[in-house]
Amino acid sequence: MPEQEQRKDREITWSNSLEATNLDRITWKITIIYLILGTLWILLSDQVLAVLVQDPEQYQTVQTYKGWFYVVMTALLLYVLLNGQMKKLKDSRQKLLVSYEELESAYEELLAMEEKLENQYGQLNVKQNELLETEEKYRLIVEGSNENIWDLNKQTGVMLFSRTKEMLGYEEDEIEDSHDALLSLVHPEDVLTVQKAEEQHIAGKAPYYYCEFRLKDKTGEYRWIQSRGKVVLDEDGNAVRMAGSHLDVTEQKRMMMEMYDMAFYDKLTGLGNRTLFYDHLKKILSSHQRRKKRFALLIVDLDDFKRINDTRGHRVGDEMLKQVALRFSELTEPGEMLARSGGDEFFILKPGIKSIEEVENLAAKVLKTFEIPFNIDEAEFFMGASVGITVYPDDGEDRDTLIQYADVAMNEAKAGGKNKYRFFDHNIRERVASWMEKEKDLRYAILREEFLVYYQPVLDVASGRIHGAEALVRWNHPTKGVLSPSYFIEIAEETGQIVPIGQWVMETVLKHYKTWSSKSDRNLLVSVNLSPAQFKRQDLHEWIKELIMKYDMKPEALQIEITETVVMENLQHSIEMLEKIRKLGVKVALDDFGTGYSSLNYLRTLPLDILKIDKSFIHHLGKDRKEASIVSQIINMAHELNLTVTAEGVEQKKQIQTLQRFGCEEVQGYYFYRPMPEESFRKLIE
Ligand code: C2E
Ligand code: MG
Ligand code: MG
Repeated sequence: MPEQEQRKDREITWSNSLEATNLDRITWKITIIYLILGTLWILLSDQVLAVLVQDPEQYQTVQTYKGWFYVVMTALLLYVLLNGQMKKLKDSRQKLLVSYEELESAYEELLAMEEKLENQYGQLNVKQNELLETEEKYRLIVEGSNENIWDLNKQTGVMLFSRTKEMLGYEEDEIEDSHDALLSLVHPEDVLTVQKAEEQHIAGKAPYYYCEFRLKDKTGEYRWIQSRGKVVLDEDGNAVRMAGSHLDVTEQKRMMMEMYDMAFYDKLTGLGNRTLFYDHLKKILSSHQRRKKRFALLIVDLDDFKRINDTRGHRVGDEMLKQVALRFSELTEPGEMLARSGGDEFFILKPGIKSIEEVENLAAKVLKTFEIPFNIDEAEFFMGASVGITVYPDDGEDRDTLIQYADVAMNEAKAGGKNKYRFFDHNIRERVASWMEKEKDLRYAILREEFLVYYQPVLDVASGRIHGAEALVRWNHPTKGVLSPSYFIEIAEETGQIVPIGQWVMETVLKHYKTWSSKSDRNLLVSVNLSPAQFKRQDLHEWIKELIMKYDMKPEALQIEITETVVMENLQHSIEMLEKIRKLGVKVALDDFGTGYSSLNYLRTLPLDILKIDKSFIHHLGKDRKEASIVSQIINMAHELNLTVTAEGVEQKKQIQTLQRFGCEEVQGYYFYRPMPEESFRKLIE
């Protein structure tokens, strides 16, 4: 019997006995009072009556009344006393009944609870057995699996990671089976990361535990580990255990880092590349916009770097770039960003500028680094650079505008004599606008085929007869009329539009030639100018061959013209390509000779047929003796190399006479004919 119930029972018995003694006492009290009052009544009432009533008859009557009075009074007294005690008795019985009922329901509840408890105990037993079984299974999996599975008891700190130990080259008992032991192998820089990842997952902020960190292997080297896992929580949300796997990702990490380097760093100089620079520029733009600050962007382009590359080889070129990068790194200050944008071009970003002088100083410092020669393979090289500068937000408010204008300014610096720096100015902006307009127009011109081929006859000096013609492109502009190449050829070359134009010219010329030869049996030679971009094509000779076959042209009737600068860009390629073209039977002319390098050395190595002396030399013939002697020397040298000489830009009779004297074979110029439309040329030869 539960204690509570016992106590209640005791309380009831005790109150019962208390009531019994009370009743006894009251009974006694009533009896004694009654005894006293009765005795007193018997003793005193007759004497009082005898004093008060003297008449015996009257006395007898009062005596009777007195007797009745006594009986009534005692009866009343008895009633009051008994009634009071009975009421009290009834009350306590009622109370007793209620307590008994309460007691009974408490006992029933108690019984139900006991039954439930017994049930739960049974279930718990089953669960515990199940748990033991899974734990056993789990241990078997951990030990028998190929995966680097780990299992951590969060309450005891015991951690099983045998496979990981093996992976790192440790013996099983060399490292304790504990979380602390594992943490002691983690790279000090990664410990926090590991703990944070764990906390995040336990707190429910991450669906699973994921972390990458380095673990020290037996040789003392760190290996990159990818760890994943999941936590088991108890009802209060406390971590009970965690389990997961370790994966060795050292190799992937190394590759990723290499890829990152490749994506963002220039391999040659170790500087950031264009992508990294753009990324940085984006951040600088937004931070300067927010803080209303200015920054400067400098584009540094080496002057005539191509020359070094072509004449000294790429190894020297690369070494030069490395040294330039090193010098630039030394002059840039913390906060400034230096990058190689590709080729021989570098970017420098100077944030938070307060005055233009700061930028001027930086640009001057950049140029000053070129005053000292570069030492490569025990030889000294001098090199210069041109710098173009734009300032945010003065010159532009977005990346592309700033870079484009800095590029324009840099080109202005180059055009202005190199080894200079130039800020972008608004006059340049206007030029850029008109340039862009032209570029757009040109695009339409290609689509609408607004081009024409004009022909300028080339004459035999000896016979005075038309020997052939040079094909010269014209743009039949819808509003501006027929435009010469000087208006558009530079843009077309810079934007690459020259390629489709050049192809169109070549094909048109061959078409024209076919109609001429059907009407005349003269063996004319037609000459076509090739642009630098066209000449770079690896399959140029094949393309020419296909066209010749398509239009059924005799290869000897075709001549191509290239300039010295084009040839010099890649001498080796030029020699090989020219040889292939000549093998087809097509003639090769070197155009505008005298305006570029005019080096006799390379002239010897080039497979050529014709040398075209530039009109600037011919212009001075007859006026300047020195010029005449140069022309005569060029002609002699060309003849020594078995080259035919064509003189361009002949405008006066005197000039023809001089050229004739020097032994020049062919002439071309306004004196004879200006370039003319195909129709006119066809009539002329017919
Ligand atoms: P170029 O190949 O040196 O062509 C000769 C230029 O000299 C032509 O200018 C011609 O009109 C001009 N000329 C001829 N005789 C005289 C003369 O007596 N006096 C003067 N002052 N000039 C004379 P044009 O047609 O304006 O062509 C300029 C340049 O544009 C050409 O120079 C050539 O380099 C380029 N070009 C022309 N057509 C093509 C083409 O189809 N493709 C490519 N890539 N370039 C072309
Ligand atoms: Mg030409
Ligand atoms: Mg020329």
